[in-house]
Amino acid sequence: MENRNNSHIAGVAVEELASLAGTPAYVYDQAIIARQVQRLQRAFSGTPTRFMYACKALPNIAIMRVMKELGTGLDTVSIHEVELGLLAGFQAEEILFTPNMVSFEEIKKAVELGVHINIDSIPMLERFGHAYGSRTPLFIRINPHIMAGGNERISTGHIDSKFGISIHQLRHVERIVASHGISVHGLHMHTGSDILDADVFLRGAELLLESASLFPSLRYLDLGSGFKVAYKEGDITTDIEDLGARITERVKRFNSERALPVEVWFEPGKFLVSEAGTLLVRVTLLKQTTATVFAGVDSGLNHLVRPMMYGSYHHIENVSAPNGTPRIYTVVGNICETDTFGWDRKIAEIKEGHILAIRNAGAYGHSMASNYNSRMRPPEILVAEGHVRLIRRRETVEDLLATQIVEG
Ligand SMILES: *Cc1c(COP(=O)(O)O)cnc(C)c1O
Repeated sequence: MENRNNSHIAGVAVEELASLAGTPAYVYDQAIIARQVQRLQRAFSGTPTRFMYACKALPNIAIMRVMKELGTGLDTVSIHEVELGLLAGFQAEEILFTPNMVSFEEIKKAVELGVHINIDSIPMLERFGHAYGSRTPLFIRINPHIMAGGNERISTGHIDSKFGISIHQLRHVERIVASHGISVHGLHMHTGSDILDADVFLRGAELLLESASLFPSLRYLDLGSGFKVAYKEGDITTDIEDLGARITERVKRFNSERALPVEVWFEPGKFLVSEAGTLLVRVTLLKQTTATVFAGVDSGLNHLVRPMMYGSYHHIENVSAPNGTPRIYTVVGNICETDTFGWDRKIAEIKEGHILAIRNAGAYGHSMASNYNSRMRPPEILVAEGHVRLIRRRETVEDLLATQIVEG
């Protein structure tokens, strides 16, 4: 993990960041996003590869624009993410729409907008064939039944998963495709988040490549995501350079035997934005119980649900007084439900009013935030080359009431 100066984020003093929009606040370091994108681009520079930023991780338009500048496309999972992507300046052909269990109306809307569409089930493939025949090419999401992913809730490729069309149903797919004259432009798999092993990607790639002969118009091979990042010191992460070398070698060999070469796509979300993000919170209360010292903060599971939902570890530092004597704290939020950010953490001595930094909060942080307990979602700040910019303001009571019918 990166060694950051404790009381600065992207070179800006934490107190200055907190004074811009108060606490709690999400802060993103653009340089780290760029570093992550470029690391992937370098590792796969040997074969045509496109990275489609999975924007559900952090769907702020300003972040999407940063990605566009860096040369990524966009992976979207709802028609509204498609709309945000177009608004951010992506061309329709730079956007892939990978929905799951949506109505055909949503698919039709995506066809009208002209984005690539990834079909996730046999019935949807049939309906698509009836409606568009050979006119609109598509991607097919294959479930390769590879067990992967950090925990069962984020693993999507296994046998009981709701995602994709089973690789064992390819004959059926082939018949539907032939009968409607459908042009299959892409084969896709996404086996889950937090894949440690390059072998999982390679096994998946192998299965997709074996299936490719069924679809002569194929031009994209989308291997999804699951690149693992370090949440704590010593965590094992995906070896991107090794993966790049091995996929490149395999795809080159495949393309040398084919009239129409395939381009490799990936859809990283977490890998691009997780480390770039920090949730700044302020300590409101220190509470000593019989066994524990609780540091209560002005945030909670309504702002960062990952520790509670997935048991995720997020490193916590005292950025107001980083050099104090380390003591053991359990850091909790203010929600009327157990919302523990970290148990028994060694943190530089905390006083009420101090600001704590909760690290690796860029992915699935703000994007999964809610108004639970009728509390406001935090603002978002982007720091680029020392320049600090508010990219989402804090909500107000008016925002809470905006959709409620107040008149009795
Ligand atoms: C969520 C998702 C991703 C991104 O996963 P990360 O673990 O954030 O990299 C990619 N593709 C699809 C289809 C997804 O649903």
